[in-house]
Amino acid sequence: MAFASTRSPDKKISFKEAVFRGLAPDGGLYHPDTVPDLRELFRSFSPDTPFTEIAGRTLHTLLPQEFSREEAQAVCERAFSFSPVLRKMDEDLSILELFHGPSCAFKDFGASFLAAVMDSILAGRDERAVILTATSGDTGSAVARAFYGSSNIDVVILYPSGRVSPLQEKQLTTLGGNISALEVKGSFDDCQRMVKEAFVDGELIDRILLSSANSINLGRLLPQSFYYIWAAAQVSRNERPLLFCVPSGNFGNLTAGVLAWSWGLEVERFIAATNVNDVVPEYLESSIFTPRPSVQTYSNAMDVGDPSNFERLLAIFGGDWEEMSAVITGDTVTDAETLETIAKVEKATGEFLCPHTAVGYLASRRFLEAYRGNEKPQIISLGTAAPGKFTEIVEQATAKKPPVPEQLAGVMELEKKSVMVENSLEALKEYLLKSFG
Ligand SMILES: *Cc1c(COP(=O)(O)O)cnc(C)c1O
Repeated sequence: MAFASTRSPDKKISFKEAVFRGLAPDGGLYHPDTVPDLRELFRSFSPDTPFTEIAGRTLHTLLPQEFSREEAQAVCERAFSFSPVLRKMDEDLSILELFHGPSCAFKDFGASFLAAVMDSILAGRDERAVILTATSGDTGSAVARAFYGSSNIDVVILYPSGRVSPLQEKQLTTLGGNISALEVKGSFDDCQRMVKEAFVDGELIDRILLSSANSINLGRLLPQSFYYIWAAAQVSRNERPLLFCVPSGNFGNLTAGVLAWSWGLEVERFIAATNVNDVVPEYLESSIFTPRPSVQTYSNAMDVGDPSNFERLLAIFGGDWEEMSAVITGDTVTDAETLETIAKVEKATGEFLCPHTAVGYLASRRFLEAYRGNEKPQIISLGTAAPGKFTEIVEQATAKKPPVPEQLAGVMELEKKSVMVENSLEALKEYLLKSFG
């Protein structure tokens, strides 16, 4: 398997190259150039196959030239010190909890895998790299935790001063070691602009090997397919048709699941659940795609008005609306419905849901209620963050405090270490050259 930009399918590069490049030079996203048939591999997995083994064997089968069986296994063991958990709610619905990693959100799977791959490539070449990343809060902490302690990579995180939550700020600024936090006097857009300008600054790219870790990186997308494969193996002895419901924003998570389906994973259908930022459900309904500015909601990690991975989804279906809408159904959930769902589920089961997970949960319930076929499907709905990361909203819905995950306990007491910088390329450049040049 090789990879090409969604915008120039003829220029092929390897996975490892695509990982370091991040975004393609033409502005497109790197995407697999072939569709392998992995049905035999998937059939060999049982409910007892460990997650890291499923990940390692899938990686090797996809990219045998780039990862030997042993290398693939080593990278996955190193990346995944945590596993997904499948929690059965009832006969029809389970939640795939993806929030038991270091930052308590599903992005840990992608970020940790990317860190392990980059580290192994650089160790082989005896080189060092600097990862530059701008964050509005959540992604930065997954990236920081994933790369923390790497001996070949330094991470510089830019965040807008005073515009991230106190818990998020502590997560970004208290690790130390190879992780530095720059507190930018400006907005998230300023941080993003500074990072973009740095990547095209001749002097900087001459003196420092700069790379990015943002969510469109292929190295974050690919490993997200592994937990769909693991979850399908968990229910493989039960013959009912399987659906996945995915709370979505930038659509990387859903795209990874659809990729696994394209390789032969037995999935009947995907439900793309969004908050009111619903350009994709709207497209699935009407065949018209209208990106627009995002609206703020309780499930704020899904507040995306122009999802970048839509381009990859289109590529999987050859741009054909009919084919896509035969496999993916959309649903939109409002803030009021999100609160109501968190409250209802807590009352009935004692389980707390984070607002993003609640969006998927309600979409799953509505699908099951409306289902009129003979063979009632089973739905696995993705749990994308721990409820204890969103205490205020969960408390507003249930009048109870969700438990704080052990990974986050104590972080508020640690001492913040950050460097305040102006919102200009010059300020960033001075810092980078002084520290790494
Ligand atoms: C990023 C994120 C999402 C959305 O995932 P996409 O891959 O961008 O669709 C959903 N929930 C949480 C908690 C997230 O952090």
